[in-house]
Amino acid sequence: MSRDWLEKDFYAVLGVSKEASTEDIKKAYKKLARENHPDLNPGDPEAEKRFKEISEASSVLSDSAKRQEYDQIRAMGASGFGGFGGQGFNVEDLGDIFGNLGDIFGFGSSGGRRKGQTYQTNINISFEDAAAGVETIVPLRKEVMCSDCKGTGAENGTAFHRCNICGGSGQTASNQGFFSFAQTCSACKGQGNVIDKQCRTCRSTGSVVENETIKVKVPAGVDNGTVIRLRGRGGSGGPGAPDGDLLVQIGVSPHKFFKRKNSDLVLDVPLMFTEAALGASIKIPTLTKTVNLKIPPGTPSGKMFKIKGEGISPQGRRSGDLYVKVYISPPTNLSRSAKKHLEKYRDQFESGESPRDYLYE
Ligand SMILES: [Zn+2]
Ligand SMILES: [Zn+2]
Repeated sequence: MSRDWLEKDFYAVLGVSKEASTEDIKKAYKKLARENHPDLNPGDPEAEKRFKEISEASSVLSDSAKRQEYDQIRAMGASGFGGFGGQGFNVEDLGDIFGNLGDIFGFGSSGGRRKGQTYQTNINISFEDAAAGVETIVPLRKEVMCSDCKGTGAENGTAFHRCNICGGSGQTASNQGFFSFAQTCSACKGQGNVIDKQCRTCRSTGSVVENETIKVKVPAGVDNGTVIRLRGRGGSGGPGAPDGDLLVQIGVSPHKFFKRKNSDLVLDVPLMFTEAALGASIKIPTLTKTVNLKIPPGTPSGKMFKIKGEGISPQGRRSGDLYVKVYISPPTNLSRSAKKHLEKYRDQFESGESPRDYLYE
């Protein structure tokens, strides 16, 4: 299966109708193959080319599973691809659609037009930038087409000639009896062209490595490990093929105080035991401002208070909430006088009482 099925009409190549039976297809193939067989047409590149086309068409249409696939792809090409005109798809949408078809049909694994390589890189941003969204740049070492030879690998893009072993097709036919097998041409290594003078800029590879900086828009609310796909910012594609994508994995540094759980935030907050016992109004920082939180009298350690809408606000989604988890933090360096007061309180109000009595019931 290959992407050029969309463009090739195998029925026309064999001169049969779309309703032709497998019998008819085999008959048509035998007749045409005999007429165009390279052994019977020595030194005729046109015949050789036709023979290859006929063999390819027959190998697909005489296999019922392959034929069904081919028919489906062609039908989709006629309706799906033809239907784009005037519908206002932008390039990105088209990229998505073709990308998905590629996933389904395995396009891109064969044929000369190869989408560019997918590149991957990492960036690290602060917790605050991840929450608010940020525009940043990533440095990238990127393989791009050599402009001196326009990717041909030949000096000035002109110092090459068509391979005369394979006639430029990049493949040679090896004949075994009646059958013909396509092989990669060894003279041009399947390129179809032979370079006369190598491009010195790229050492004939057709591509050079360049340092680039790429702007990345990180949307608000990305979490650690999120991957952003930048279409067409990866390796350059072959002639006529789209450039690859760049995948940017976002690392988010942990916050000193806030812990993140999806879109919610959790903040541990200490209370003086008098605040917990008597109640208080305390100030709490959110990611962007300060809010007041009312602590009711008799608040135990571990109690959670929810501050609505003060979590992370991911782009296009509902805001999370901020959960304040309080714990009681007793004084550690009591003055002699403070100690006396507390002892007096204990002796007067807590004698004979224990909050652990229930453990012995
Ligand atoms: Zn070059
Ligand atoms: Zn060749």
